[in-house]
Amino acid sequence: MIIRKEEKPIKLVDENGIRVDGRRVDEIRKLNIEVGVLKNADGSCYLELGRNRIIVAVYGPREVHPRHLSLPDRAILRCRYHMVPFSVLERKSPNPTRREIELSKVIREALEPAIFLENFPRTTIDIFIEVLQADGGTRTAGISAAAVALADAGIPMRDLVTAIAVGKADGHIILDLNDVEDKYGEADMPIAIMPNVGKITLLQADGVFTPEEFKTALNLANKGIKEVYTKQKEALRKRYLQIKEEVE
Ligand code: ADP
Repeated sequence: MIIRKEEKPIKLVDENGIRVDGRRVDEIRKLNIEVGVLKNADGSCYLELGRNRIIVAVYGPREVHPRHLSLPDRAILRCRYHMVPFSVLERKSPNPTRREIELSKVIREALEPAIFLENFPRTTIDIFIEVLQADGGTRTAGISAAAVALADAGIPMRDLVTAIAVGKADGHIILDLNDVEDKYGEADMPIAIMPNVGKITLLQADGVFTPEEFKTALNLANKGIKEVYTKQKEALRKRYLQIKEEVE
């Protein structure tokens, strides 16, 4: 049977604190990160977070076309976030939507502070994020994957950028919202951080948090960020040990 639409569950968090997909409120979905998956890109990353499937390709620093966009004192950063037509239940047009154009900008701004753009004047760094399957939290998963792909491209960075969403469902503050929780929950707050530098590079919020809830949400986000950061570093380490072995 093909399920065409996910219905609103009666409860998003049950009396035992368990969510629709069996997670506790402070648990992230299963996360898998692979580095260097595309031969033709300078850097690449494939990321699975629950049912999200995202692939990122990074090119550069390279010559800018059209030339007039180049800057004399630093590289420009360009980013395209795109969902493929089969990434959601109802076919999505392959043309960029307003949402994708906005997310491309938001993601670029979340990554920009981490990159030493001033090291590469008159060049461009291009990031392509393709969402193959979407299930809530694709902007944050896209950011985490793009940071890894940038590192894989050998682009000098102050830190990785790590992102996760926190939110509110049935009055509970929850970590890493899935699509149903995103759609039917009371609030959603994507966050991106440079974990080592300790700077927030993205903070958006949909819905209402009390100051107390906001604090709890931020603490929970920090917990999630630590877990994702560890996985990002592990994936990069694994890739470079593999390359080292191939060379030897
Ligand atoms: P994020 O993926 O960062 O949470 P949104 O909050 O805008 O971004 O979207 C939440 C989820 O809604 C997406 O992850 C995806 O599962 C779903 N979604 C987004 N666009 C569409 C679309 N055009 N059709 C169906 N579902 C969509």
